[in-house]
Amino acid sequence: MPTPRTYNTQGIVIKDMQLGDADRIVTVYTPDRGKLRAVVKGARRTQSRKGGQLQPLTEVRISIVIGSSLDNITEVETVNSNRGLREDLGLLSQAIYVAELVDGFTADGAVNPREYELLASILAALQVVEDTEQLMRYCEVQLLTMSGFGPEFGQCVECGANLDPQDHLLSCIAGGLVGPECKVSTGDPLIHLSMNSIKVLRFFQDVGLAEAQSLPLTEEIKSEVKRVLAAYLAYVLDREPRSAGFVTQVAAMGKTDSGGPLGSTST
Ligand SMILES: [Zn+2]
Repeated sequence: MPTPRTYNTQGIVIKDMQLGDADRIVTVYTPDRGKLRAVVKGARRTQSRKGGQLQPLTEVRISIVIGSSLDNITEVETVNSNRGLREDLGLLSQAIYVAELVDGFTADGAVNPREYELLASILAALQVVEDTEQLMRYCEVQLLTMSGFGPEFGQCVECGANLDPQDHLLSCIAGGLVGPECKVSTGDPLIHLSMNSIKVLRFFQDVGLAEAQSLPLTEEIKSEVKRVLAAYLAYVLDREPRSAGFVTQVAAMGKTDSGGPLGSTST
């Protein structure tokens, strides 16, 4: 009898799905094999240890047996449970959103170790930074850039001319800013972007996480950058990320609970 082909790898669980009554299919994002999907037999039984270890957002070392249609995860070792993310609904919603973006931006088997590092560092940072909103914007910009969808903010997408530091219009379909003398042929509604927001977006494309996090931003810029990125992401993914609404709902609940100035205005 031929020996089954097996391999070991390490990765972060970004998604899971039920499979029949007892099993689950988990999607794991790995630095060396990209995104992979595999079955966890018996994972939905309450006493399943493997099932407990393979919760979304956990970092695991796994042994996989290659199957004829689907591969099977046979052994699991927890590397980092990222438990802090599960203890706070606000953090959990944002972490799930990040996992969904990574899933949406990656094709099966496309290997991108830098994107894996980004995912791991964002999940770690979520549990320690104060401004998780700013972290989410940085994550969105970086994921777009790493997956080849990063908008062009330095040159006009129509004529290639360098853009002056001023407000500009963004075309999602054309993939970047359009200079004041140019018209885009794509016909999509252009989004106005202030000079300061353009500077922030370019900065987020170029720097590491710590630098991005230390940039002071006004509420006005934060909200403009958030709105523009949401529109751009929805275009690239061809839909609004499913968990984006969850993030907004949880954030609104937090504001109501805190009894702060925003709490009194909520309906
Ligand atoms: Zn132009």
